[in-house]
Amino acid sequence: MADIKNLNLKELETVITSWGFPRFCAGQVFDWVYKKSAVDFSQMSNLPLDLRKRLAENYVLSCLELVKKQQSKDKTEKFLFELADKNFIEAVSIPAKDRVTGCISSQAGCKFACRFCASGQLGLRRNLEVAEIIEQALYLKNYSAAKKLTHIVFMGTGEPLDNYDNVLAAIRLINAKDGMGIGARRITISTCGIIPGIEKLAQEKLQIELSVSLHAADNATRDKLMPVNKKYPLEQLLRCCRDYVKKTNRQVTFEYILVKDINSGLPDARRLAIMLAGFDCKVNLIPANPARNLGILAPPAGAVKVFQNALSQSGVKVTLRQARGEDIDAACGQLRLKYEPRCKSE
Ligand code: SAH
Repeated sequence: MADIKNLNLKELETVITSWGFPRFCAGQVFDWVYKKSAVDFSQMSNLPLDLRKRLAENYVLSCLELVKKQQSKDKTEKFLFELADKNFIEAVSIPAKDRVTGCISSQAGCKFACRFCASGQLGLRRNLEVAEIIEQALYLKNYSAAKKLTHIVFMGTGEPLDNYDNVLAAIRLINAKDGMGIGARRITISTCGIIPGIEKLAQEKLQIELSVSLHAADNATRDKLMPVNKKYPLEQLLRCCRDYVKKTNRQVTFEYILVKDINSGLPDARRLAIMLAGFDCKVNLIPANPARNLGILAPPAGAVKVFQNALSQSGVKVTLRQARGEDIDAACGQLRLKYEPRCKSE
């Protein structure tokens, strides 16, 4: 049965009025789902009994089943969910001083096979439905130790722009006042650089944040790390990002994983600085998290500092991302489907 969170307010109004109930009942259902965290239609005490019954006959209120929860020493919490068709996805709650960020998945598996990323090693299983995306956020808000969610990043498993329509529909519901009410500027899409998706996103008139996983400043290196670069090479990707900034007036953040012996030397930093000269953007450096079996290592801390300094001395805005949840494999690229029965490499 379909999850009711697949419907936006208008769609639910259409359903409810077609059953002969007043339009405002849809708003009441939304209130129960998004504000009062109802787990059963029978809880919706201000709705006519007949409507509650009708809803329960046609929809479910939950589509994720928790299989495992792990908490890191740094309070990062990882949740492993099973979907109705026995696929698995993960979501992570990352509390910090002034915020709680939810890292959520957009697909079960991923087809882009970045060399450093554990999530992509199994290939794509399927796109997540709107409700499966939203429920991760609701779950983190209601059931994480932090019991709160202020920011959302699409940096779990999957490529959000490869599941464009469902991710955008989920974002609109997460953002909506009658939905979760999380501000657009607190929602980040992270992409491996799908040019048509970025172009489409530029037309959406949404104030969301865009992060682009760059990870190299020349095509030869990026080809090696990210097979998607063969389809959408650096110069085209950069042009597309510049257009995005022009059209939306929003900044772009470039994610750059530092991998020992591959993309983290001083010449790489210099190439990156030249490539981004005059571009209103930020670079977020991420010392690579070791991904099991992938042979990926972080450079020593000294080399990270040298890389960072070279960028900032060239006028590039640069930050260094703190790894979180490393002890529970929740750090970037480590969301690994250990429970996946068809997992190739277990
Ligand atoms: N497909 C999207 C979102 C998922 S990856 C994308 O490519 O952006 C989210 C972030 O985690 C990306 O910046 C990705 O490059 C990073 N990441 C993946 N594996 C990593 C690893 N081993 N160490 C550090 N960061 C990693």
